[in-house]
Amino acid sequence: MALEAEAARITSQFEFGDDLVNKAVKEFQRQMTEGLEKDGASLSQIPTYVTAVPNGTEKGLYMAVDLGGTNFRVCSIQLNGDTTFNLTFSKVAIPRELMVAKTAQELFAFLAKQIELFLQTHHEDHFEQHVRRRMTMSSPEGFKDEHVFRLGFTFSFPVQQVGINKGTLIRWTKGFDIPDAVGKDVCALLQDEIDKLHLPVKVAALVNDTVGTLMARSYSSPGKTSTVLGAIFGTGTNGAYVEKLSNLKKPLEGEYDTSTGEMVINTEWGSFDNQLGVLPNTPWDIALDKASTNPGIQMYEKRVSGMFLGEILRLVLIDLLKNPSVSFFKDENSSSNDWKSTTNILASSSIYQQWGLDTAIMSVAAADNTPELATLRGELEKQLGIYSAGLDDAQAFKALAYAVGRRAARLSAVAIAAIVLQTGKLTDPANKDEPIDIGVDGSLVEHYPYFRDMIYEALAKIDGVGEEGANRIRIGIAKDGSGVGAALIALVAAGMEKNMSTADYLGELRSTARNLSTVPEDTEATTAD
Ligand code: ADP
Ligand code: MG
Repeated sequence: MALEAEAARITSQFEFGDDLVNKAVKEFQRQMTEGLEKDGASLSQIPTYVTAVPNGTEKGLYMAVDLGGTNFRVCSIQLNGDTTFNLTFSKVAIPRELMVAKTAQELFAFLAKQIELFLQTHHEDHFEQHVRRRMTMSSPEGFKDEHVFRLGFTFSFPVQQVGINKGTLIRWTKGFDIPDAVGKDVCALLQDEIDKLHLPVKVAALVNDTVGTLMARSYSSPGKTSTVLGAIFGTGTNGAYVEKLSNLKKPLEGEYDTSTGEMVINTEWGSFDNQLGVLPNTPWDIALDKASTNPGIQMYEKRVSGMFLGEILRLVLIDLLKNPSVSFFKDENSSSNDWKSTTNILASSSIYQQWGLDTAIMSVAAADNTPELATLRGELEKQLGIYSAGLDDAQAFKALAYAVGRRAARLSAVAIAAIVLQTGKLTDPANKDEPIDIGVDGSLVEHYPYFRDMIYEALAKIDGVGEEGANRIRIGIAKDGSGVGAALIALVAAGMEKNMSTADYLGELRSTARNLSTVPEDTEATTAD
């Protein structure tokens, strides 16, 4: 039982008990306040200027693109009026070499190319006409603006936003590293490449995925309750929430509407506690950070999100494989293996390569509760080239994966609880018996079994939330929220160009969102996956 004992010794290092969770919540609250007061804090607490801005029409075709970290999504939403719309999207994996390209231009040219392909495939008529028109006009003013697609650009990296379609990149995260993009306006970078292809597309709004998720969920969530937090648990993790303007103490540049008394704040919580005051830090966390493109930063994200969980697990597994006192994924002879065959790991297995273990296999491990773990063992073969793993090997894999996943969920509860407490809604008499609505998006929270249950379990143990508070917190998936949210904000931006009144645009935005949320599953949506 050496393997089982060693696995248990490792999993215990991933325990993040109730006391530690509570201590982390307090620190999260402290860092949130600090970020609202000054620049350069651990939590950037970036003002988004999303409050209530004049906006436009509910008819027309809007586009949205989403650069998430793993995939690039292109989407168009045809708003036909009050009741119908068509949504089309395509998705492509971002090539790894472009994440660390020499120049920003290489990455953004690729993105523009995907937009072109999307238009050619899905909007051929418009596309041909528009390109012809743009090619034949000698000046940009020469073509009529209403023929141009308004595009909402979801860009899920830390950006200093200075206008609805203008924002400079603060730093890369999630394995991206293209130094010459830092400090540049990402909308202009994309627009330049779009213009080189003569595409009839205007980058109308810059949207963080968390804000898009919050917007989409807020307008479509059941009942009259508005959403307080939009959170991402995908390649990376981050959240945006509705803050009182009176709490926002640092100076704001530019104009914004003060009538609601609130503003959406992008926390950039991936960098919570970079100083490691309260975050757990195992030898494998240390090794992962050291080998990353950005050592010492995004320390919370490196313990929570999809890009990193698989890598933490991989590093644990490699240590176990190297440990001479345990027999892991190897057997003396076939008689010691319940499948009567000898375990064999391909020399070319990606388990030996950085990022070689996709977090998705941890979901397979968590979902396989059969005595034989046959599904998991099948995936070990398929994804990692580990043949005829023994039952004890698969059990150890499952236990270790669970430990890493559970710690991530408990850490996620820290951010959620701190923000719920910050809103004061749990104790506000005006909000009595109302749910506290949270929209989430991202493959991890969507597909990892029991991820939300583990979050709820931790929430119930947090001071000021408790069982009763946890029951009032409603965490709902805002599926493709970032795409729909970006289209909604593009619509807001188009309205701003036309100077519609605030009341008009809010009314239209709500009715549009309602239509979006009532679309049947089998809409004309096509997916080019
Ligand atoms: P993005 O962050 O680009 O918007 P996603 O939300 O799809 O994209 O997140 C991708 C991340 O989620 C990757 O790190 C991937 O490893 C992880 N992931 C994908 N599928 C699963 C799954 N079934 N279970 C857990 N994690 C997953
Ligand atoms: Mg995403």
